[in-house]
Amino acid sequence: MKNAVVTGGASGIGAAVAERLRSQGYHVATIDLKPADDGPLAQAADVTDRAQVDAALAGIRESLGPITVLVNAAGVDGFQRFTKIDFAEWSRVIDVNLNGVYHCIQAVLPDMLDAEWGRIVNISSSSAHSGQPFMTHYVAAKSAVNGLTKALALELGPKGITVNAVPPGFVDTPMLRNAEGRKRLGGTVEEHIQRTPVRRVGRPEDIAAACAFLISEDAGYITGQILGVNGGRNT
Ligand code: NAP
Repeated sequence: MKNAVVTGGASGIGAAVAERLRSQGYHVATIDLKPADDGPLAQAADVTDRAQVDAALAGIRESLGPITVLVNAAGVDGFQRFTKIDFAEWSRVIDVNLNGVYHCIQAVLPDMLDAEWGRIVNISSSSAHSGQPFMTHYVAAKSAVNGLTKALALELGPKGITVNAVPPGFVDTPMLRNAEGRKRLGGTVEEHIQRTPVRRVGRPEDIAAACAFLISEDAGYITGQILGVNGGRNT
């Protein structure tokens, strides 16, 4: 049975990915700032802090053994005119969205290399495709995650490990509703639905389904890909 770790697994997309993988029989552990529950499979850690990530993974390995599936979903948004983004804010957004992915992959990778099999899925963002005003730090970080995905896929392909990215667009999670509440979306979710080709908001389960496919044995010949799940908003 395969052991999976999902970062950001206490909320939104990460929680849906964890649930989906559990329903398919994977053993799943989550890492998040605030854990989903009290057990050893829901670890509290900040993905920007390597010592915390290592400690969380040690706890998970103690319960499950080696980890061969990693989904990086932890993330934060940010909305600010470029000239107003001070370096602390710039660095915070880059740190969680990009450096967190670096830490988690590097910390899990030894298990995958030993197993000569692994699956890594990075949740980036459709904004890396389209650009997004007032989100230069976020878009820069998510674009870098797509780049990391492509480069690492080439490095790890010969080792039996695939690396792919799923950039979501407009998915109904606390992050999206929070942005709507702060009037950062450029309209309400309802208004955006009318501009979305499939005429609905994305569900976390839509992203989870794409991740589950990329993690499956059926997807073993797919690596270095950026699989948009966005209702046709970014084609
Ligand atoms: P969400 O509901 O806010 O979930 C993100 C989770 O990551 C939260 O539980 C959050 O904890 C956690 N997190 C934040 N910083 C962390 C850190 N330093 N260490 C560990 N965990 C941390 O948002 P979501 O919409 O599901 O987002 C999931 C991923 O999808 C993110 O990478 C996001 O950028 C990406 N995405 C989402 C959309 C969308 O439409 N929803 C679109 C494009 C991309 P707290 O709540 O405590 O901060």
